[in-house]
Amino acid sequence: MDLAFTTEQEAFRRDLKSWLAANLARPWNDEIRNPSHDENSLVEVRRAWQRQLNDAGYLGMGWPAEWGGRGASVVEQAILEEELWRADAPQVPNFLGIDLLGPALIHHGSEEQRRRFIPKMLAADEIWCQGFSEPGSGSDLASLSTRAEPDGEHFRITGQKVWTTFGPWSDWIFVLARTDAEDRYGGITFFLVPIDQPGVEVRSIRQITGESEFGETFFDGALARREHIVGKIGEGWRIAMTVLGYERGVQTMAYPARFEGYLSDVIEGVRRNGTLGRADVREKLARLIVENQVMRSNGLRTLANLAAGESPGPESSIEKIFWSEYAKRQSETALDLLGPQAQLTTEARHARPDMDWAREFLWARAGTIYSGSSEIQRNIIAKRVLRMPTK
Ligand SMILES: Cc1cc2nc3c(=O)[nH]c(=O)nc-3n(C[C@H](O)[C@H](O)[C@H](O)COP(=O)(O)OP(=O)(O)OC[C@H]3O[C@@H](n4cnc5c(N)ncnc54)[C@H](O)[C@@H]3O)c2cc1C
Repeated sequence: MDLAFTTEQEAFRRDLKSWLAANLARPWNDEIRNPSHDENSLVEVRRAWQRQLNDAGYLGMGWPAEWGGRGASVVEQAILEEELWRADAPQVPNFLGIDLLGPALIHHGSEEQRRRFIPKMLAADEIWCQGFSEPGSGSDLASLSTRAEPDGEHFRITGQKVWTTFGPWSDWIFVLARTDAEDRYGGITFFLVPIDQPGVEVRSIRQITGESEFGETFFDGALARREHIVGKIGEGWRIAMTVLGYERGVQTMAYPARFEGYLSDVIEGVRRNGTLGRADVREKLARLIVENQVMRSNGLRTLANLAAGESPGPESSIEKIFWSEYAKRQSETALDLLGPQAQLTTEARHARPDMDWAREFLWARAGTIYSGSSEIQRNIIAKRVLRMPTK
């Protein structure tokens, strides 16, 4: 295992940092501070940022050049994610399209689908969301019951999806739907479905944080065209599993970078309220700093494996559980140490818009649910890493 970055990788990081310094100056922080912005207009700010990244060749970097990428290594992709968090860049609005669907189209889609969808996905001309989870099918996704029935040459989709991130702003949704009720895994097909059509309705869900980033998506005989099936009929489960695998890996260095930034916000706040010298305060901060280092080491281990051509494997569950549970501990510690100050809008918090600790405390819960809940990760670790007996 080699945990050192090469000279070329360090050069890539340097170029990227200077590009970020020159281009993120727009500045995002001013935009979010602008009281005239609501959730809708912030999506437009994020769309503009996505276009800047795309024009500079920083989106879909690992993809072949013919599809807008530059065949970048997994290490360069991980460096990009790390530096974007360090620079406190906004998240692009089409992250589900780019992180999940794009690679799925490159590996499993038709030439026609790639030509039709990838350029508009990268340019944020069409925003994508993911229609996998249903009210009765989350962790046990294969139990999904949304169905696609043949209608002449094409299909009609009926059913309900839930927790559709970015659903309220999306143009297209990639949907897992049942084409065979008898075959649990082989009866699932992967469809690309336009949202703006009769028979599709997206209703926003207001979250505990006050935002409504999610939707519930209802299908009532919505048209899904045959040429918009990814892979073959009945291959949806296999494709979905590879798609979810893309979620892991290149994000591995992003979490420690993100939480390090948050940590400096807590330390700054504690310094300001004059308690930084207290032993109990220092101990709590030291614990977070050490845990962040552990997270980074874990991330480097995964990255080294990926760079050696291995798949993330069940060990990635250790990382998932670590960063998501850490996020909860960090926000709880921040509220504890900063007290009422954590609820105030201070200059420092303006400068780092995510650092509304009350919001972060509430939002951190979500990380232990999406991409496989902590309980599911523990099951995976028990069975596939520790090989514990199931009975
Ligand atoms: C922020 C966020 C964004 C999301 N975005 C999307 C999206 O864009 N598209 C999409 O399709 N979905 C999305 N989801 C849904 C997400 O994939 C599901 O919430 C997740 O799979 C869990 O399913 P569930 O909510 O139905 O909970 P359930 O599966 O019903 O679980 C309920 C509880 O039971 C526990 N549990 C379940 N099974 C087991 C088991 N076998 N052993 C032990 N404990 C178990 C779980 O850990 C949990 O605590 C999102 C969720 C969140 C929180």
